[in-house]
Amino acid sequence: MSSINIIRTRRELLQLTHTMQQQALRIGLVPTMGYLHAGHLSLVEAAKKDCDRVVVSSFVNPTQFGPREDFSTYPRDEARDVALCQEAGVDVFFAPDVQELYPYGQDCTWVELSHLSSLLCGATRPGHFRGVCTVVAKLINLSHADAAFFGQKDYQQLVIVQRMVQDLGFDTQIVPCPIVRENDGLALSSRNVRLSPEARAQAPALNKALRAAHAAYAQACRDITQLKWEAKAALVFAPDIELEYIAIVDPDDLHSFDETAGQRAIMLIAGRLGGVRLIDNMRLDQ
Ligand code: AMP
Repeated sequence: MSSINIIRTRRELLQLTHTMQQQALRIGLVPTMGYLHAGHLSLVEAAKKDCDRVVVSSFVNPTQFGPREDFSTYPRDEARDVALCQEAGVDVFFAPDVQELYPYGQDCTWVELSHLSSLLCGATRPGHFRGVCTVVAKLINLSHADAAFFGQKDYQQLVIVQRMVQDLGFDTQIVPCPIVRENDGLALSSRNVRLSPEARAQAPALNKALRAAHAAYAQACRDITQLKWEAKAALVFAPDIELEYIAIVDPDDLHSFDETAGQRAIMLIAGRLGGVRLIDNMRLDQ
C-alpha cells in the first residue's frame, strides 16, 4: 500500500494535482468535514473505482455554520481520519486550516445560488449553502478534480452543487452516491456521536417516517397532505424530535411536487433531537 500524502497548503495541492493532470490521470475529489464514517468511505470507494487518484479533503468549513450553530463543537479526529483514508487507498488527504482557505477571512469571493439556497434547509440556515458552494468551488479548483463525489444524504447540497458546476462551467462531473444507514435505518452522520442514548433510540424515527410515506406512495397515494400525515404519524413515538420540515419535491429542481403531473418525487425531512440537527430523505417513486 503506498503511503498517503497529507497536504495542508493550497500551493502544494495545486502543484501535485496539476502534475497528475499532466500525466492524464483522472482525479476524484471527496469533500468532507472529517470525522469519517462508512458513508464517507462509500464515497471514497466510488471514487477509487472511477478515478486514478483520489483526493479527500477534510475541512470543517466555518462559513457554512451560522453563529449559533455547532462549528466549535463539531467532532474532529484527524489521526483516525488519516488512518481510515490510508487503509481505503486514498492518495491525498487535504487538511488546510481556515486561514489557508480564507486568507482574507469573510471578506472573500462568495459563490451563491439565489433561489435553491433559500429553500428547505436554507430557510432555517441562512448563508449555509453560500458557505458550501464557496468552499466546494475552491476545493474543485485546487484539486483539478475531474469528478467530485457527494452523498445523497445531503440531497439539497447535491442539487445545488450540480447546478453551481453547470452555471459556472466547471469541467467536473458531480457523482451522486447512495445514503449509507445503520441497521435501524438512521442515516450515518458525524453528528450522530453527539446523540444521547435516549435521543439515539428515537433518531431512526426520521427514516421510519420516510418509509411510511414511501409505502403510501407505493399504494398509489399522491395526496401531499396525506403523504405527510403518514410520515408524521411515524414520528409520534419519537416525542423529542422537533420537526423542522417535511417536504415533497421534484428531485431534479426541488420545486414543489405537482400531485397532478408528478411522477418523480422525493421526501425530505429535517429535525432537531437533543440539540443535534438531523436530516434524511427518500425517493418516493423508486
Ligand atoms: P460531511 O462530512 O457531513 O460534510 O459529508 C461529506 C460528504 O459525505 C457529503 O457529500 C455527504 O453527503 C456525504 N455523506 C455524509 N453522510 C453520508 C451517508 N450516511 N451516506 C452517504 N454519504 C454521506
